[in-house]
Amino acid sequence: MKIEKDIQDFDTIGDDHVGSSSETPLRQDAFELTSSEKIDIIKGDVKHILETLGLDLTDDSLKGTPNRVAKMFVNEIFGGLDPAKKPSASTFDNKYKYGEMLVEKNITVYSTCEHHLLPIVGKAHIAYISNGTVVGLSKMNRIVDYFAKRPQVQERLTIQVVKELQKVLNTEDVACVIDAKHLCVNSRGIKDVASSTITSEFGGIFKTKETKREFLDYISLDTAF
Ligand SMILES: [Zn+2]
Repeated sequence: MKIEKDIQDFDTIGDDHVGSSSETPLRQDAFELTSSEKIDIIKGDVKHILETLGLDLTDDSLKGTPNRVAKMFVNEIFGGLDPAKKPSASTFDNKYKYGEMLVEKNITVYSTCEHHLLPIVGKAHIAYISNGTVVGLSKMNRIVDYFAKRPQVQERLTIQVVKELQKVLNTEDVACVIDAKHLCVNSRGIKDVASSTITSEFGGIFKTKETKREFLDYISLDTAF
């Protein structure tokens, strides 16, 4: 049975967390509906799921849930699907002539696993070496947050952050390491609370052993203030 085979394949892929592309797989018509139209439809879908599970949605505690979840999906946790929310690409000249590596570490990552729709929580560490252009420090946090606010796989998130910064900074010399916990691994399935997943993407000079080592040494510094 082909369909059963497909379902089996999807289940296997889901638990192995294999990503298929560095681009988020969006439909052609992804932005034909407005946000409020999407919220209206998703609201009905969430209601349907909860009712199917046997819950009484007239209960005071549950009656607002479909609307709350729909708004949260569209405006918050999956808000980064909307290109209009991409952080603006304002850059500055490197006036200090700072030519060394700049590292922004311990950037909080809140994302959602696209295989189980459960949270991914962790830290991102980013580095770049300027070729004349710099970005504001918080821009790196914003870029991570924008790409994190999508159904994601961690490998793709890491690559998307690097690609975006390479474009904004006009240099290949960008790197990103993400260390994150996937609640689909920690709280269900294998239920391994302790494990976390590390992914990395090294562009340009960060592919060389020495520069990669320097970056990894900086992010292993134990910063406490
Ligand atoms: Zn998952």
